[in-house]
Amino acid sequence: MSRIWRAELNDLDRLIAQLGREGFEVIGPRVEGQAISYGPIQRVADLPVGWTEEQSAGHYRLRRRNDQSVFGFTVGPQGWRRYLQLPKESLFSADRNHRGQWQVQETPTLAPKRALLGVRSCEWQAIKIQDRVFERPGSVDQPYQRRRESLFAIGVDCVTSAPTCFCTSLGGGPKVGEGVDLALTEVVNSHQHFFLIRAGTPQGEGLLTKLNLGVADAIQIKEGERRIEHTRTQVAGHWKVDVKRLREDLLANWNHRYWEELGNKCLACANCTLVCPTCFCSNTVEEVSLEGDRVERFRQWDSCFTADHGYLHGGQVRPDVKSRYRQWLTHKLATWQDQFGEVGCTGCGRCVVWCPVGIDLRQAVEALAQPEGEL
Ligand code: SF4
Ligand code: SF4
Repeated sequence: MSRIWRAELNDLDRLIAQLGREGFEVIGPRVEGQAISYGPIQRVADLPVGWTEEQSAGHYRLRRRNDQSVFGFTVGPQGWRRYLQLPKESLFSADRNHRGQWQVQETPTLAPKRALLGVRSCEWQAIKIQDRVFERPGSVDQPYQRRRESLFAIGVDCVTSAPTCFCTSLGGGPKVGEGVDLALTEVVNSHQHFFLIRAGTPQGEGLLTKLNLGVADAIQIKEGERRIEHTRTQVAGHWKVDVKRLREDLLANWNHRYWEELGNKCLACANCTLVCPTCFCSNTVEEVSLEGDRVERFRQWDSCFTADHGYLHGGQVRPDVKSRYRQWLTHKLATWQDQFGEVGCTGCGRCVVWCPVGIDLRQAVEALAQPEGEL
């Protein structure tokens, strides 16, 4: 096990400054409008100090905490995927010159050095899931790979949870997993406020050496672990599911009448797919100038809930909302297992919170596993 260091609030500021000196743009959580979103960070004061959120199906509100906790919340509407798989990315453009000839140019990939500060366990797991999608041997997505290689990840263990969190039921947990460059555990109470820091990569180790931190003592480490374990117990109470049975239950109930109810309730707004950190569908679109002398092709996020997404070879393969919801849920939890050998959900709960009609994936799964007569 690597050594665990202790950092004070001002050390976190030094960490951010050091990352800046090393050429990283630091991105972290910030209060923006009425939610916690991700954006550039220059100092600890830019983070949501003293804020938390109240979350449930179809409901999200910011609330003040009664302490100065820096990471005393869970996850807001945005995942980190917008920094790896851009929501809209130019692929190439073509311009017509004065002689009427077209010149085509590839758009250079944007891959700045970025440090993501505050990556939760469910989000790190989601990045690793997307790695397997975009860096699959034989079909590597070059822009994604370049941005991934430029990434420095600072994880944060969860010491608080929302009722919508269910990471533990899908093999995750409040402690951020292996592979992050650095991981923090925040300890705050009436008489102390500090962070435990551990390095997960040589790059992280190198950065910590420059900060000259003191080593944490056994009592401090134990206090951090106690908070993580407390959160683990809380989250475990939010849902328990057997992942293998999940696949069987969903696929065996393809024509269950509850799909009808879900289809009637769902607005096909695509919110669930846009907030989900593991969704990866995209579309390509062309934008042509009014003069007709320039065209640019973009790749942009798409959703299996849109009518166009299921339009193939002159026909719509998922004409109704019921079939789109069924496609989404069964892909995430069942057929993703066939495709990638794991579930496509990390239990972050965003799709539950940001569904305007409050459809809760957990309730949907439970209902679909029931014999129809018992509903
Ligand atoms: S399906 Fe829902 S809970 Fe699972 S990772 Fe996506 S947004 Fe999070
Ligand atoms: S399940 Fe909810 S969030 Fe997803 S498309 Fe339907 S209404 Fe929108």
